[in-house]
Amino acid sequence: MTATRIDGKAFALTVREKVAAHVAKLKAEDGLIPGLAVVLVGEDPASEVYVRNKGKQTAEVGMNSFEHKLPAETEEAALLDLIAKLNADPAVHGILVQLPLPKHMNADAVINAIAPEKDADGFHISSVGLLATGQKAMVPCTPLGCLMMLREHHGDLSGLNAVVLGRSNIVGKPMAQLLLRDNCTVTIAHSRTRDLPAVCAGADILVAAVGRPEMVKADWVKPGATVIDVGINRIPAPEKGEGKMRLVGDVDYAAVVEVAGAITPVPGGVGPMTIACLLANTLTAACRAAGLPEPE
Ligand code: NDP
Repeated sequence: MTATRIDGKAFALTVREKVAAHVAKLKAEDGLIPGLAVVLVGEDPASEVYVRNKGKQTAEVGMNSFEHKLPAETEEAALLDLIAKLNADPAVHGILVQLPLPKHMNADAVINAIAPEKDADGFHISSVGLLATGQKAMVPCTPLGCLMMLREHHGDLSGLNAVVLGRSNIVGKPMAQLLLRDNCTVTIAHSRTRDLPAVCAGADILVAAVGRPEMVKADWVKPGATVIDVGINRIPAPEKGEGKMRLVGDVDYAAVVEVAGAITPVPGGVGPMTIACLLANTLTAACRAAGLPEPE
């Protein structure tokens, strides 16, 4: 039986529509316009595409978008100055510093300089601590998007075996925390895990966030499992012409779709949900700052 395709693109559209409706209400009733500041240092082409998309979608839901592009050689102190200004600016409710930062900067110090209440990406040490201790936190956008798709597909996740493949601070670890909070039995696998295929094969929910093209094979997947593919990998696509590339995930989609119960595609799965969650986080931050009820 072929797996259900979880359509992240369509789901993200419904999330953005809800955000836009809430923003319109805030403007009309409270004169409040949520604002998101995105800071990009350097000229990484993939980061430039993400930042452009974020800016476009922020404006589309009726929020203010403030873009700050700094040259790659910017001193860390100058970036910290900019963050201090954004922290103090009442028109800015969410701040995102696009990662990766140039090597001469200390990314932890930069992220921790963001005011926690404006931490739209949920990477600040206090957001991490709040999430880990089960308190109300700003949740990192990619894992939040994955969780929303899982809840939409499964309803209650209690008691399910979840395997998170990857332990990064931005995806794997917060994903595991969120699944634990939803009462899954969680295993975190990584490059030192022994017999990875067998570990993955025990999962009712398998989240792949490794950055290895099509690594998860059909015999790693329990029949009927739900597979969330976070990976975004560019591989050569000679069939499209010389030098052309295409996007694939961390899961061998063509094979796994025949075994899994449900699966997210790449592109069109986790990616669109990530930006939608960023907008939702910014809206939440704006409501909290104004002492207004938060969106559900
Ligand atoms: P990182 O490189 O920070 O982390 C990768 C993780 O995968 C590490 O924990 C690493 O283990 C593990 N890993 C790597 N190779 C193997 C292997 N052969 N076997 C088992 N585990 C392995 O990546 P990110 O978490 O930042 O991103 C993961 C993927 O998700 C990337 O493709 C990225 O592009 C994509 N991504 C997509 C987003 C979206 O919006 N859709 C957003 C963010 C990321 P160890 O710790 O032992 O080294």
